[in-house]
Amino acid sequence: MHEIGLIQAVIDEITKAAEANGITRVNKVRLVVGKMNGAIPDALEFAFSVLSPGTIFEGAALEIEPVDVTLSCPRCGAESVVSEIAYFCPECGARARVVKGTELYIDYFEGDDGTGEGENDESRDGAAHTAGQRPGGA
Ligand SMILES: [Zn+2]
Repeated sequence: MHEIGLIQAVIDEITKAAEANGITRVNKVRLVVGKMNGAIPDALEFAFSVLSPGTIFEGAALEIEPVDVTLSCPRCGAESVVSEIAYFCPECGARARVVKGTELYIDYFEGDDGTGEGENDESRDGAAHTAGQRPGGA
C-alpha cells in the first residue's frame, strides 16, 4: 500500500525532529497532502493507526488537509481546479501543467516533552482513585 510508505516516512521524519527537541510523545500530526499524490486520506489514517502503536505516536491524532489539483493551460490560459488527478485542461482539452496538488509535507506536529502529563502513570489506573483523595492541583 502506497500510504504505508508515506506514513512511515512521515513517522521517521517526525521521530527524528522529536528526538532532537526532547519530545517523548506526539499528540497531533497535521499533513498537507496534494491529490496528485494519489494518497487517500482514509488510507493514510489507517496506515497511521497500524504504524503508531508502540511508538511515540501512539494515540496521536492525524489531521490531513487535502489540496485539490490546479492545472494551468498553456494553450487557452485557463487555470482550473480539479478534484481528481487530471492532466488535461477542462476548458480546451490541451495538455496542461500541474501547478498545485503535488505537495506532501508535515504542516506541524504537537508533542509533550516528558515534563508534564507523561509522568503521572498512576492516574491511568482506576484503582488509584478509590481512596477518595483528591490530588492537589490538576
Ligand atoms: Zn485550455
